[in-house]
Amino acid sequence: MQQEQTFVMVKPDGVRRGLIGSIVARFEQKGFALAAIELLQIDRELAEQHYGELRQKPFFGELVDYLTSGPVCAMVWQGEHAVENARALIGKTNPVEAAPGTIRGDYAMDIAGNIVHGSDSAASAAREIGLFFGKHAAAQRMDPYAGEFGHGG
Ligand code: UDP
Repeated sequence: MQQEQTFVMVKPDGVRRGLIGSIVARFEQKGFALAAIELLQIDRELAEQHYGELRQKPFFGELVDYLTSGPVCAMVWQGEHAVENARALIGKTNPVEAAPGTIRGDYAMDIAGNIVHGSDSAASAAREIGLFFGKHAAAQRMDPYAGEFGHGG
């Protein structure tokens, strides 16, 4: 099976509550490989582009306020069926419906503060990775043990 990449973002409430580590751990334990990670404060323009498909929704303004209310942790995770596997790990959009054991099921109470984002399709993943990681998007996973600083074996 070909490797796939997906875009995952710990939203500002997740960062504020100190959940980056727990969320990263779940992805690692599941078997994903981390391909990119960055903590960044996004501006309204990037938030609006990211959620462009929801522009007509009544909650769009609040969603952009929420996403720009503090730093986010943007990540690219790689593996087999990465998009679908990440969505399963994250759980349903509304935490009320998200099963216990999923990230939203375990850490969130309300749809407007649901902690984490995961791309909903391979096309969305490519678009979102491009938005957040630009020319680094196509980079394959770094090998932490490669190169001159590797464990000299
Ligand atoms: N959202 C919201 N109110 C709603 C529906 C969605 O605030 O009634 C927010 C919520 O943060 C959600 C995001 O908008 O994660 C994107 O919605 P989408 O339907 O794409 O869900 P997701 O793909 O995040 O599960």
